[in-house]
Amino acid sequence: MAAQTLSPLHRPLHHLKPKTVGTQTLTAKLKCSRIIITSKIRAAVIGGGPAGSSAAEALATGGIETFLFERSPEAAKPCGGAIPLCMLDEFSIPHHLIDRRVTHMKIISPSNLTVDFGKTLKSHEFIPMLRREVLDNFLRLRAERLGANLIKALVTRIDVPTTNNSPYIIHYILNNTQNTLAVDVIVGADGANSRVAKAIKAGTYRCAIAFQERIKLPDGKMAYYENLAEMYIGNDVSPDFYAWVFPKCDHVAVGTGTVCSKENIKTLQRGIRARVNSKIRGGTIIKVEAHPIPEHPRPIRVRNRVALVGDAAGYVTKCSGEGIYFAAKSGRMCGEAIVRASESGNRMISEEDLKREYLRKWDDEYITTFRFLDLLQKVFYGSNAGREALVELCGNEYVQRMTFESYLYKKLADGNRWEDLKMVMNTIGSLIRCNVVGREMDEFDKRILAQI
Ligand SMILES: Cc1cc2nc3c(=O)[nH]c(=O)nc-3n(C[C@H](O)[C@H](O)[C@H](O)COP(=O)(O)OP(=O)(O)OC[C@H]3O[C@@H](n4cnc5c(N)ncnc54)[C@H](O)[C@@H]3O)c2cc1C
Repeated sequence: MAAQTLSPLHRPLHHLKPKTVGTQTLTAKLKCSRIIITSKIRAAVIGGGPAGSSAAEALATGGIETFLFERSPEAAKPCGGAIPLCMLDEFSIPHHLIDRRVTHMKIISPSNLTVDFGKTLKSHEFIPMLRREVLDNFLRLRAERLGANLIKALVTRIDVPTTNNSPYIIHYILNNTQNTLAVDVIVGADGANSRVAKAIKAGTYRCAIAFQERIKLPDGKMAYYENLAEMYIGNDVSPDFYAWVFPKCDHVAVGTGTVCSKENIKTLQRGIRARVNSKIRGGTIIKVEAHPIPEHPRPIRVRNRVALVGDAAGYVTKCSGEGIYFAAKSGRMCGEAIVRASESGNRMISEEDLKREYLRKWDDEYITTFRFLDLLQKVFYGSNAGREALVELCGNEYVQRMTFESYLYKKLADGNRWEDLKMVMNTIGSLIRCNVVGREMDEFDKRILAQI
């Protein structure tokens, strides 16, 4: 069905098919979890970023009638665009979409102590840097090619049904006209300001604000950032996060983020510009962008037949601010969960199905990673002493190897017990030298550390 020609559509939820079970009919047992339906269930995915496109692709290829809503397909999501290497294979992302292959990563302390953080990368390893407008467009069109109906429209409202078996009604504006669509299941992939989350009263979360300027550099200066990314830490650039310079096709993205000092974000941006002044002098700002970054998962991520994924759910890691991979992964996991639970669209799903097939699996796989990075952020980003300790530690090759393997491949790297012990001792040593132990770690942090 061509998405743009959809007329206003109000369709009752798929009819329940009476089926004899002993002397009872199944319709008499509506409260039981297994409901057989005569036509396939219909899913709407709101938001066509990495989370939404991946969810739509999984749903459509799993045989479910899928509608993918994206309000501004031509726009560029404000983002650094760094993804882990494993995402290329896992999501079949063609290499020609990559702007830069970063093989050198410098981390620079408040006192300008600089560590080259890419020493342990193997010859075939790199951090892919992409522009989001390129990546998102590719993922969205692939979902459409594989069967999702792409609707280039703003979703303005969602009517949540008052009974278990009624449809959700999606209101959207297409070509200046209000339209509606009735669906059985919704995947909320509409980012940090999610309307879907509001519609299902999923609760709020704390957000950081991230600010970024795209700066086109003279050729000579761009050559310096050919395959190099930089991370700057210090109170001048952020009191609780890091600032970055990431290379793109013909420009660099220079940005910073903060949770606790949002009102000063422009001052912090001036701070990172001042730090890299000599390297970007003569450059022209071609784009200025800002966006919230969620700090924690939402209190509710599944309600009835609605699931939240990506930023809408709050899946961005602290410390690194990484969210693209987790958005795509959660979208795919959620889409596959719906396909599985609905037996390819032939059975109505319930909140319990979504919790069992999506949420529990997600939490089992990633919750420890999120908590661990949360702890690292608290310990290392909270004071200049902690930041100096972090940069000192990053000089250690074992620390580098473990960090890169975990980041690039999204699995815990195989360690060496002796080296692990040395790493723990080095960490404690660096922290003691920087006088932060006891001050930065509260009881909650210590408990998390004990669980890891
Ligand atoms: C400045 C900055 C730098 C970052 N750098 C990195 C980085 O280098 N690496 C990394 O991994 N992560 C980075 N992140 C985080 C990353 O951008 C997000 O985690 C990621 O984009 C989440 O993807 P998503 O699909 O969940 O949401 P989004 O990418 O936000 O996509 C949501 C989509 O929904 C659409 N939408 C919203 N509301 C509606 C509606 N009502 N109707 C229709 N469509 C709607 C939007 O137009 C958008 O396309 C950065 C974030 C920021 C702000």
